[in-house]
Amino acid sequence: MIIVMKATAGARDVAAVAERMRALGFTPEVGEAAERVIVSVAAGGGAAPEAELFSALPGVDKIVALQPAYRLVSRAAHPHDTVIRAGDALIGGRNLAFMAGPCSVENRAQTLEVAEYLAALGVKILRGGAFKPRTSPYSFQGLHETGLEILAEVRERTGMAIITEVLSPQDVPLVAEHADILQIGTRNMQNFTLLEAAGRQPRPVLLKRGMSATIEEWLLAAEYIVSHGNSQVMLCERGIRSFDKSTRAVFDVGAIPLLKHLTHLPVIADPSHATGRWDLVEPVAKAAVAAGADGLIVEVHAHPDQALSDGVQSLRPDRAADLLASLRRLTAALDRGLDLAPAALAA
Ligand code: PEP
Ligand code: MN
Repeated sequence: MIIVMKATAGARDVAAVAERMRALGFTPEVGEAAERVIVSVAAGGGAAPEAELFSALPGVDKIVALQPAYRLVSRAAHPHDTVIRAGDALIGGRNLAFMAGPCSVENRAQTLEVAEYLAALGVKILRGGAFKPRTSPYSFQGLHETGLEILAEVRERTGMAIITEVLSPQDVPLVAEHADILQIGTRNMQNFTLLEAAGRQPRPVLLKRGMSATIEEWLLAAEYIVSHGNSQVMLCERGIRSFDKSTRAVFDVGAIPLLKHLTHLPVIADPSHATGRWDLVEPVAKAAVAAGADGLIVEVHAHPDQALSDGVQSLRPDRAADLLASLRRLTAALDRGLDLAPAALAA
């Protein structure tokens, strides 16, 4: 960190800055550049002092951080890609991970029908919400524990791993008992007590980008989970808010290669929530893969017209099969593969 003092700063101001650094356990170096006094400190691989603790001191002009505030999730701290296992699936390796399923677990038959179709396609991870974060309190809120029990039964029958959303810190143990991956949704990306609770349990976490979150805020949210003990975190770009309502959100494709530079965590794309239209899912999914995504999470419903949530953006199973066929060609062209069950790959 470099603190640039104002041209008017006096020796006492500089001494006070240096003193605060020492009080925080750092060794400051005082120098001069362009007729300004600068106080610098090397973090030496550890935590840098917090800029906020210096910004109000008299005589301080600017503070330049030389390291990102997120340390554990940064590529600098950990140059190799993190690879996460969930059931038989690997997320973050050479092959593209693929998670699919309905927006909500509506009942046993609906979940089983779509899961069996997806399992036959070789999909290893089933998505489905039991706790739904709905904008209106009058919308379908999910089946809660019953939904988790249905998902666990589907795992028994199909061998698929389960990803499902957790909305509150109190529900973390219950969801972790039933699921293989916990999802933290866009509306909860900065629910810090939830992030901490997800960090204190062992299941991998898929952390969606807050709909108005910067990349730095998102990485700091991931840092909460990792710093509380759970390094198995993946980031999911699901679109951000804009002035234009033509699509549900604006898919930030550039975030994918940027994150691959900034962090070692796997990056997943959700073209369903990003676009809000089933007919835009495939092109956006392909763009995400071309940009370097480690995986996709896609909504699929056996009867989208009857879905209790997000039917318009849900693919029919035959369209999910078409998407997989086209991803198979795309990943091959990129010298990658698709992480599907071996029987499906042979087909
Ligand atoms: C979901 O995955 O169904 C969901 C609610 O996603 P998001 O948090 O991205 O809106
Ligand atoms: Mn949904």
